[in-house]
Amino acid sequence: MEAKKRKISIIGSTGSIGRQALEVIEKLGDKFEIVALAGGNNVELLKKQAEKFKPKYICSNAASSRAGESWGEGLTILHGTEGLEQICSNKENDIILVACSGKVGLRPTLTAIKNGIDIALANKETLVMAGDIVMSEAKKYGVNIIPVDSEHCAIHQCIKDINQVDKLIITASGGPFLHKSIEDMKNATVEQALAHPRWNMGKKITVDSATLMNKGLEIIEAHHLFGFDYDDIDVVVHPQSIVHSAIEYVDGSVIAQLGLPSMHIPIQYAITYPERFEGIKSKSFSFSEIARLDFEKPDYEKFPTVKLAYETGRTGGTATVCMNAANEEAVFAFLDGKIKLYNIYEITKKMCDEHKVIHNPTIDEIFAVDEQIRGKTKEYIAKFS
Ligand code: MG
Repeated sequence: MEAKKRKISIIGSTGSIGRQALEVIEKLGDKFEIVALAGGNNVELLKKQAEKFKPKYICSNAASSRAGESWGEGLTILHGTEGLEQICSNKENDIILVACSGKVGLRPTLTAIKNGIDIALANKETLVMAGDIVMSEAKKYGVNIIPVDSEHCAIHQCIKDINQVDKLIITASGGPFLHKSIEDMKNATVEQALAHPRWNMGKKITVDSATLMNKGLEIIEAHHLFGFDYDDIDVVVHPQSIVHSAIEYVDGSVIAQLGLPSMHIPIQYAITYPERFEGIKSKSFSFSEIARLDFEKPDYEKFPTVKLAYETGRTGGTATVCMNAANEEAVFAFLDGKIKLYNIYEITKKMCDEHKVIHNPTIDEIFAVDEQIRGKTKEYIAKFS
């Protein structure tokens, strides 16, 4: 008998994770059936993906695409956030890969959870902004949230009995400024910040990797995903990006997950979990070829963003919403050449210090704080010359 195909939708199919997910799905041949693909504004690529993968639904944000427009037989065009809601409430889906970036991922993810659909989660904002709500809803509806990010995916693979785990150890490549001076980092150009030594990713996350804010966000995500106190989540710098993270059991045993730095592996793990397939694996892992693995303590003087993430995480409520919103606006300003790399932290820290935290916020309050902080951050940035 032919094995049942897993039905999947991808939110953010034209982004970096979405494109790589489609490469995995293509390689896995008849294992998947695509229900819907949602892309932002890249209509051309979305059209190509629709031709190749034949989903039932396409959702786009672009003005050039309209609901009801024909892109091919049997294909329904959806539009905007309403379209995303429609996709995420379609119980035909076995799993939804949330691979878009930004807060746009939050509401559709909650809708999918309420409909009992498992989530492969690549969107950071979902947990950084609303981790408490998302995880309690997932528990309530019995939904699996399988992380795509390499670090959380590694921890997910290491954990056998979560009650016996003492500590999570998240690895950080350290980004392009790991062994540069603070002065070099302060004066870094956009090009230097975007030259990540190990991972090829979108621009926002690459800048976050240069400041190590990415690691800060991952600490907060790990806290929510695995239910660990911040005191029990450590960060270690590991420049080779071979050990993707580790856990320490109560008895002192440490289990780590290793692999070549390719996002195909965690993406495939998340969408095929709990099964494993050969898939897109390009070559076998060789310890002797890698030869050495280095580890060092993160320099919190140079990368104060990590400390800020621990602080806002411990405060909880809307503190992480504020940090995320201020950081993102500052990163955009840096990419636009309006501020220096180091200003990103200073601006984010200032916004966090001034923020009046709401504890146990509703989703609407979360979005309101996000809006308010973005406005305030932009106003503040406008004063920079
Ligand atoms: Mg990561």
